[in-house]
Order: sequence, then structure tokens, then C-alpha cells
Amino acid sequence: MSYEQNYLAAQQSPEKYWAEQVDNIDWFKKPDTILSKTEHGTYSWYADGELNSCYLALDRHVEAGRGDQIALYYDSPASGSKEQISYSDLQCRVARFAGALKARGVEKGDRVVIYMPMIPEAAVAMLACARLGAIHSVVFGGFAPNEMAIRIDDATPKVIITASCGIEFEKQIAYKPLVDKAIELSAHKPSATIVCQRPMLQADLNSARDLDWHQCQEGVEPADCVAVRGDDPLYILYTSGTTGQPKGIVRDNGGHAIALNYALHNVYGMKQGDVWWGASDIGWVVGHSFIVYGPLMGGCSAVFFEGKPIRNPDAGTFWRVIEEYAVNSMFCAPTAYRAIRKEDPEGALSQKYNLESLRWVFVAGEKLDSSTYYWLSDLLKVPVIDHWWQTETGWPMTSPMMGWDSPSESRLGSTNKPIPGYDIRVLDGDGHEVDANEAGNICVKLPMPPGVAWDIWNNSQRFVDSYLTAFPGYYHTGDGGYKDDDGYIYITGRTDDVINVSGHRLSTGEMEEVVSAHAAVAECAVIGVNDQLKGQLPVGLIVLKAGAEIDEQQLEKELVAMVREQVGALACFRRAIVVERLPKTRSGKILRAILRKIAAAEEYKMPSTIDDESILPEITDLMKQSGLV
Ligand code: AMP
Repeated sequence: MSYEQNYLAAQQSPEKYWAEQVDNIDWFKKPDTILSKTEHGTYSWYADGELNSCYLALDRHVEAGRGDQIALYYDSPASGSKEQISYSDLQCRVARFAGALKARGVEKGDRVVIYMPMIPEAAVAMLACARLGAIHSVVFGGFAPNEMAIRIDDATPKVIITASCGIEFEKQIAYKPLVDKAIELSAHKPSATIVCQRPMLQADLNSARDLDWHQCQEGVEPADCVAVRGDDPLYILYTSGTTGQPKGIVRDNGGHAIALNYALHNVYGMKQGDVWWGASDIGWVVGHSFIVYGPLMGGCSAVFFEGKPIRNPDAGTFWRVIEEYAVNSMFCAPTAYRAIRKEDPEGALSQKYNLESLRWVFVAGEKLDSSTYYWLSDLLKVPVIDHWWQTETGWPMTSPMMGWDSPSESRLGSTNKPIPGYDIRVLDGDGHEVDANEAGNICVKLPMPPGVAWDIWNNSQRFVDSYLTAFPGYYHTGDGGYKDDDGYIYITGRTDDVINVSGHRLSTGEMEEVVSAHAAVAECAVIGVNDQLKGQLPVGLIVLKAGAEIDEQQLEKELVAMVREQVGALACFRRAIVVERLPKTRSGKILRAILRKIAAAEEYKMPSTIDDESILPEITDLMKQSGLV
């Protein structure tokens, strides 16, 4: 079937299209129900099937005689270590660690928080939870204790798993004190912290709660895979919303396994035994779907990389990894290539390596600018493919289907056509579909395909309010953009207060909460401004309290430190500008959308609800003086 035939089949009869995928994975019990509605008005795929995601990723391959194949190529220029782990070896490690978790009382449905760097034990920890039917929640290593504490209180984990340190550039970051601080700040107290000691830095295991990774596995029985339902949660992954409280996106087991299998083969064109590299971090959705679960479920050998594209020793690191493991396809955010290009503008370092194994390169997470696209495709001489997805969807919504004989052609500037199952429409503010080439809200007609999240942990109503209410009958992605005459999708950016820094999604609302807590700040708005290297960077516009006497530079320094301390270094909050006042509606709401437009030097319409128009030129001048525009 062609792309068009597949797309139409999935659009006209979603249930039939996705029922045909059931036999492509191994179930303990096949589902009788393909698509059902939940009590809070959302959907569920394969709810009554029984399976285990760890079985699909590991045991299935070992049972089929592929145990000797490499599952993970761990490559860590950051620590100077490498390891090749076969499917049987990984299965043994996971079963043993799952046994240790079980011995600590972790059972099906219990939550486990994982705060770990990119070491193989992180994948072991995730898969061990999946093996027991426990729900993991990985917190990205760049988040500060305060952010971790919020997640601990929401997910109420029985156990936290961490390592003694992460490595950021040449610096070792001690993780254990951060975890201790988070537990001190949270109301919920987990019963155990399991710590994987890395050779370069040992953590003190000084509380009754602390356990050593290896010691806790001594004498325990390896654990078997526990059957879970298709609609049982596999993991919670927190992502930034528009408020300070992150959203705990809940992923199921059944739809997720079907979707990853479908995407790996059809979208990414990977086959069993191929070498795949997802160059991201397990703290993000890409890490869940296409560093750990997807490639392993599909029987690929996956590169598990700990390092920076421009370090140890230089900006040729990516090319070295491609040659060393004969990588067939890789995926990362454009920001990584922008960083490499900055260091090595001519791409001379790539000449040192044999990159012939590479078939194509995928990028996502942020806008792919045309200059990076041309630079990369000229250098690698393989297709560079932009595709689009979100934490919530768990797998791409638009992309050419590289596993098919006739994928849709990719088109520069576009994230390409919708994948079968995603009926993407562009709607105006009143919910009417706009014409081709007209910008609007990018929405997906319900039901969405398997794999997409349908719930927020502890708050199903928030899911409905955030995604399903603004445009009834549609999922609201929060992205703006348009479709061209041929149905290619163009993403222009978020329509809400979420920004994208180096492909990391961050809430400006969250930063505003931190900034507002400063004694001299009366009110503030944090907005994203364009940055050549990182895509966007946050900037605070600050109104001082009357009578506050503080030097502007000192204030900036203090605010930068506060955001770093409470949100984390990944926020890259480095600028705070004092303004006289902020533009507001007559009802007192800060007009953030206008501020964003001013910062991007874009045209804006004067909103009819503005309280005082004269503020806008005032702010524009200030931004110009500060070199932001
Ligand atoms: P996250 O949930 O962290 O993966 O971030 C998802 C958001 O990143 C989307 O809603 C988009 O705003 C942005 N995004 C993802 N992929 C692309 C892409 N290929 N082009 C432009 N923006 C993208």
C-alpha cells in the first residue's frame, strides 16, 4: 500500500487499521478490545490485552536465539568508558535488578523515580521497573532538587534510583546530595534510595534509606516478567505545561509497544540487527521511545551515548561514533549539529571517518533551520529528515515513512506529512479549519493513534482541560503552524508559554514563579527570545517594587542564581531586564504573546483589550537597548 492508501485507511477506520498491527508484537494474551472510551472521555487502545514491555525488549529476543546480539553499545567519552552489552547479558542484569526492587517491596503499579546519567544502569533500572509492572518516572539529571521534589510529591515513589554522579562537560556533578535535598524538600518520603557508585566519585550512603546498587542485588532471586494490561501505565514522564506544576504524562503499555514497533520499522526504516542511535537523554521522551524501548523492542543494537557532540576530544565525536558502531540511522535535536558546526564550520573532522553505514538522519525537538539543514546534508550526503512530535504523543506525528518503498518526499521547512493515524487539522481560534497556507492552531482529530498519552498522573481532568477542551473533538497540540497545498505541515512555534531551549521544553510560568519570589521584584514576565545556537533563551522582564534599591546587574546575578538553583542549569536563564511596567489587558493579564512578538521583531496587532498602548514602544526600545532585538 502507498502512503496515501495507508493514511486514508487509518483515517477512515482507525480501529481496523490498528487491529491489523496486533500480531506484530508478542502478547501474553491478545486484546479482544481494540479501541475503547475511558470514563473521563478519552480513549484507550488494546486495554484488555496482556503483555510486558521488558519481555518485548529483552526476553523475546533471547528466546528467539538472538541473545548474543549487542543490545546496547555504551559509549561515554564523558567518562572515557565503553561497554558492549548483549541481549542475554542485559536480560540477566535487568532480571537481577528487578529481583532487588521486588525484595524492597516494589510491585506492579508502584512508582519508582529514576534520576540517573546516561549509564547502562539507567536502562537497566527502567527495564527492571517495566519487568515488574512498576511505573518508572525518569527525572532529567539537569533538574534541580526543587523540581525533583515536585515530581516526588506527585508520583509518590516507593524507591528512588540514582548514581553517585553525572558528568557535564568536564565537571562531575554529585547526584546523591541533590536526591537527598529533594527528599528533604518533599512531603512524600520514599523508603529507599538505591545508588549506583561510579568510579570517578563515590557518594556517601549515610542514611538508613540508602542502598548500594550492587549490594542490594546480592542473594536475590532474579525476577520474571509480570503480565500487565494494555492500558496499565508503563511510565510517567513530567513535562512543562504553562503553569509551575509540571504535567505527569502517563504512557500505557499496549498502545506504546504497538506504536514504537510501527514507528521503528515504518517511519525510521530500521530492521532487526540494524544499528540505531538516539542521541538524546533518557530524561526526555526521545530517550524513552528511541534510546531504550523502541530499538530494543525492534531487535536493533542501540548506541547509548554519554557525552557532548563537541567534546572528548572534539567536534568529530558524532562522526567517530557513527564509524565505530556502523550506525545505520540516528536521531537528535538540530541544536547538536549547530554546536558541531560552530566548532568545525567546514565539517573537516567528518573527513577523518567512514560514514558509509549511515542511511539517513532524523531531527526533531525544535525547528530545523535551513542553513543547518544544508550544512548537514552537504556534509553527510544522506537525507536529513525533519519530523515532529511531543512528549504527549510519544512518537512522531509527521514524518516521511522511510521504511516504505514509496515514502512521501520530504520538503524543506516542513516537518513533512502526517503519519497514518494522525488526522492533523489547522484550526482558527473558533475551531474552524483554515485554508491551506493559512496559520492556525495545529490540532489532531480524535481518536489519536495508539501510543499517545491519554492521562495526566493524579489529574485526569487536567488532561481534558489542557488538551481536549479548547477545540472539542480534537487534541490541541499547543503548536502553531500551517499546511501547504500538498498537505505538508509547517510548525512555526508554540502558541502558549512553553519555550524550547536546545530542544528542551521549559515553562516560562515556572521561571516566573521563581523570579517573582525575589524580594525586589513586584512582577515579571519571562519570555523566550530567539538564539542562533540554542533556538530560544529565556529572558526576564522585571518590574521592581516601589522603593526597591538594587543595582540592575546585581539583581540579574541574583535572579540567574535563583533560577539555576530552583529550576536547574538547563533553563539557561541568563538575562533579566528591569522595565517600568508590563503591557496588560484591562482585566490585568500580562500580554505575553505580544512581548514574544516584540522580542522576535515580528509584526503584531494592537490587541483591543490592551490597557495602555504606550507601553509597547517603551518595551520595544528597552529590548533594543539591551541588544535583545
Ligand atoms: P517535547 O514535548 O519536549 O518533545 O517538546 C515538544 C515540542 O517541541 C513541540 O510541541 C514543538 O513545539 C517542538 N518541536 C518538536 N519537534 C519539532 C520540529 N521538528 N520542528 C519544530 N518544533 C518541534
